[in-house]
Amino acid sequence: MRKIQMVDTKTQYLAIKDQVDAAIHEVLDSAAYINGKAVKDFTQNLSTYLAIDHVIPCANGTDALQIAMMALGLKPGDEVITPSFTYIATTEVVALLNLTPVFVDVDPVTYCMDIESLKKAITPKTKAIVPVHLYGQAAPMEEIMAIAKEHNLYVIEDNAQAIGCDYTFSDGTKKKTGTIGHIGATSFYPSKNLGAFGDGGALFTNDKALADKMAMIANHGQSERYYHDVVGCNSRLDSIQAAILNIKLAHLDAYNNARQAVAKYYSDAFAGIAQIETPATANYTTHVFHQYTMQLKQVDREKFIAHLSAKEIPCMIYYPVPGHLQKMFSHQNNSHLELPVTDALTPCVCSLPIHTEMDAEQLSYIVEGVKSFFN
Ligand SMILES: *Cc1c(COP(=O)(O)O)cnc(C)c1O
Repeated sequence: MRKIQMVDTKTQYLAIKDQVDAAIHEVLDSAAYINGKAVKDFTQNLSTYLAIDHVIPCANGTDALQIAMMALGLKPGDEVITPSFTYIATTEVVALLNLTPVFVDVDPVTYCMDIESLKKAITPKTKAIVPVHLYGQAAPMEEIMAIAKEHNLYVIEDNAQAIGCDYTFSDGTKKKTGTIGHIGATSFYPSKNLGAFGDGGALFTNDKALADKMAMIANHGQSERYYHDVVGCNSRLDSIQAAILNIKLAHLDAYNNARQAVAKYYSDAFAGIAQIETPATANYTTHVFHQYTMQLKQVDREKFIAHLSAKEIPCMIYYPVPGHLQKMFSHQNNSHLELPVTDALTPCVCSLPIHTEMDAEQLSYIVEGVKSFFN
């Protein structure tokens, strides 16, 4: 049996090696390493795929979030509401810009932003909401957009884990996640559903003025060559990464289908195990399973991990410490915050290997390995 890995980017590469190698060589031959044709082609193809007017490439997903907040003109002291139960990048950039992260709870079924918790967190200082489409399914965007409209707030979607996910509105219309808020931000980190062979990121918007501003900020605040209108940063997507992403974009739906098949296999296999709560999908969204994250009920998680580890089955805890309890935010005295769902999820979540290249032998071995713990 092939060694089981949380993510297997190597096998995925080998399946499309000829195409990828040719695309990389085309960039090498062109010598347009920055802002080359590959970058234009990829952003064009991605905007078509997402049905969004503007895609602005940048260096990584964290930068994308930062550039979005800079472009919206948020000022020190402004409050930005985000879930505590997410990867640190979402909240870190808020603090980096001297904005105030306000942590809210998540829904116990979807693990995405909880609407009641969001409503309670809004104050006169609130300027923006950053929902995260965690593990690959959408946050309840229709409600979030309605609340944002009522309070005149911006919405930046953190779509780093959900590219390709479809959101269905109550009137039946569908949109891709990342294209519903004022701005969508995503990451092309190698292990993401659409992953480069290095770092990469992008911003999405239908607002032309915002798109121009974000492109300017990502390029040293430059309006024309050597004329710098605002303080920006240097955040670019390399041509080589864009060329690789352009090849992989054509496979994205197939990749997401492959992840869904793995998730279904696990969930069917664990259906009879009372101590495992398998991931659920809300009725308004598809799930592209960036992670397969289950909850272990009344289980010693350390022992469970050790049991799998002895069988060389990797698993991960996403995430062991919620944002509001991270040391970097200790000055905020967040320990009094009541986030009961986040507090309940943190000690019991466990993510199993999921990627596009898992074979039947590996899947059955993992399922048997998990089941044997409960026998
Ligand atoms: C990966 C990720 C990011 C950051 O992306 P990078 O490209 O690593 O900077 C932000 N938010 C979430 C939810 C992520 O999973």
